[in-house]
Amino acid sequence: MSAEPESFGFQAEISQLLDLIINTFYSNKEIFLRELISNGSDALDKIRYASLTDPSVLDTERDLYIRITPDKENKILTIRDTGIGMTKADMVNNLGTIAKSGTKGFMEALSSGADISMIGQFGVGFYSAYLVAERVQVISKHNDDEQYIWESAAGGTFTITPDTVNPPLGRGSEIRLYLKEDQTEYLEEKRIKDIVKKHSEFISYPIQLVVTKEIEKEVEDEEEAKEEEEDKEKPKIEEVDEEEEKKEKKTKKVKEQTTVNEELNKTKPIWTRNPQEITQEEYAAFYKSLTNDWEEHLAVKHFSVEGQLEFKAILYIPKRAPFDLFETKKKRNNIKLYVRRVFIMDDCEDLIPEYLNFVKGIVDSEDLPLNISRETLQQNKILKVIRKHIVKKCMDMFSEIAEDKDNFSKFYEAFGKNIKLGIHEDAQNRSKLAEFLRYYSTKSTDEPISLKDYITRMPEVQKSIYYLTGESLTAVKDSPFLEVLKQKGFEVLLLVDPIDEYAMTQLKEFDGHKLVSVSKEGLELEETDEEKQAREEEAKQFEDLCKVIKDALGEKVEKVVVSNRIADSPCVLVTGQFGWSSNMERIMKAQALRDSSMSSYMASKKTLELNAGHPIIKELRRKVAEDKADKSVRDLTYLLYETALLTSGFSLEEPTSFAKRIHRMISLGLDVDEEEEPAAISTSEDAPPPLEGASTSAMEEID
Ligand code: ADP
Repeated sequence: MSAEPESFGFQAEISQLLDLIINTFYSNKEIFLRELISNGSDALDKIRYASLTDPSVLDTERDLYIRITPDKENKILTIRDTGIGMTKADMVNNLGTIAKSGTKGFMEALSSGADISMIGQFGVGFYSAYLVAERVQVISKHNDDEQYIWESAAGGTFTITPDTVNPPLGRGSEIRLYLKEDQTEYLEEKRIKDIVKKHSEFISYPIQLVVTKEIEKEVEDEEEAKEEEEDKEKPKIEEVDEEEEKKEKKTKKVKEQTTVNEELNKTKPIWTRNPQEITQEEYAAFYKSLTNDWEEHLAVKHFSVEGQLEFKAILYIPKRAPFDLFETKKKRNNIKLYVRRVFIMDDCEDLIPEYLNFVKGIVDSEDLPLNISRETLQQNKILKVIRKHIVKKCMDMFSEIAEDKDNFSKFYEAFGKNIKLGIHEDAQNRSKLAEFLRYYSTKSTDEPISLKDYITRMPEVQKSIYYLTGESLTAVKDSPFLEVLKQKGFEVLLLVDPIDEYAMTQLKEFDGHKLVSVSKEGLELEETDEEKQAREEEAKQFEDLCKVIKDALGEKVEKVVVSNRIADSPCVLVTGQFGWSSNMERIMKAQALRDSSMSSYMASKKTLELNAGHPIIKELRRKVAEDKADKSVRDLTYLLYETALLTSGFSLEEPTSFAKRIHRMISLGLDVDEEEEPAAISTSEDAPPPLEGASTSAMEEID
């Protein structure tokens, strides 16, 4: 077998990352050990999981451990694990040639001020070895391949060589760090112990440190021994106690160097302990070791379920959303599943619904079979029950966070979208989740309120919860849809997150109160009998005008009716109760643009509502009453319709013709001769053509 090294170039971004790690001034280098131990632990998890279905995979090495060996003489720190190991191909792929999304992500985070200790979160922890080492060797043995040595001193390349020099590992990996001159502190026993205690206490495999001990050994004293030999020849006459005295004399104490494997993490799994005896610091340390997060958790829930089914769990909520929370394709390590203290898998999707994908933790079941596979998990009844419990505990945890306003607003900022997604997806917990919603409203523009707050301050006559959706707070806060509601003192929630629209449509009601969109038709504001009567009266008076306008607008609107929701604007456009709102239409259009498969979107059916009390509408009615065929009405109707599109949150279908109508109004206002204007500016024949069906004289009539 040839032992020629084979050279490889690092993938460009990895090379860049290595440069950064080596050249950035950074003092908290100790985290390299945490990263390498964590990799060892992952590799051990993998072989243990494989052994559940095929116990023979452990034949190559039965003991599962991580061992740290400092070699002061040669300045080498070695971290060995008896995990799954790497084949030659694994080494080529995982340690240098295949780019990971995290490589770039981490460098971007670094340049915007992130800390190197966050490296583990980006899935490139191995390279932190170069914080302390000038050269790194990875010796690895996988059951499916021979033993190989990976080696690199950074600088763009690494080599892989069949290992013909080191003792066989059996199975697993050994990371050898040739420490930089100024990093030899990591060979000190005390330093290593402190780091392991600080960062890796909760690793569920023994972490051994090879320590050199000077022990006093009793050795036979050669001289005495000689004497004894001689003694033997004499007849034995001594008493027994004299004999003992003699034995002591025959040995002497010498000092000798020996090495022992000292286990550094002897604490039993934290979740098996009594919650009352666990400190916040311990929970935080466990959280960090579980998630690689550099910050503490926001909330934790440690509980056990007994009876028909038994399990223990610890659930955490992080302080922030990860950088790729909604990158759905990414597999994430959220809830680790253990069965009777044995690790099974670390991304068990069936334990928690998608919308709670930000909750981290562990579950240790007493009932599941050890050899459970991913495939059989899905149909497993026990798992379904565990999942129910977990979701319920998450709800409890959210409620507890909600008791502290500041904490809750942090939580809501990070995970509010998940709550809304939950309302959309989880019918069972919908009403519970709705309690956590927070919205700005017409009466609370500085601080978002809950639906409960909303209900407690409703005027007695008000029955429904009113909301308006739109693009931004600025866009909706003065919307014409709010006019009458404001007058009546009815608060309206302002919803400006695209997902709100989906969530509200699913939620339908809260605490017995209907959720009503104020931009949709059929708005039944709680009216007195007189108000109702007056409106019906108006409807009759404006019947003719409505008809004329409908004829003018044709297919653009479904209906034209008298409105009950506007006070200051002449008109608004509302949409069908079960169709899209203007906001939804905007969202869908944006999606259609992004996604060409959605080539056509379903436009909302619009109803034009007129404000019978508005001078413009009154005047139009007068005109129509005088002469149904009045030409000016059509042009004005278009202007009203187009401005209503804008104020109601739609986009203009024909902006240019709208602009022309407006320009004509401006010309009228300025008293300039509109016909001359374009010619004066442009010398060519590209002047806008005159608008059909409208004339300046018609405009003047309403002035
Ligand atoms: P991460 O561990 O987050 O995936 P790393 O950069 O730390 O990122 O490691 C890259 C990959 O190299 C790992 O995913 C794993 O496949 C492999 N690897 C690293 N260390 C070991 C080890 N001790 N044993 C087996 N495989 C390892």
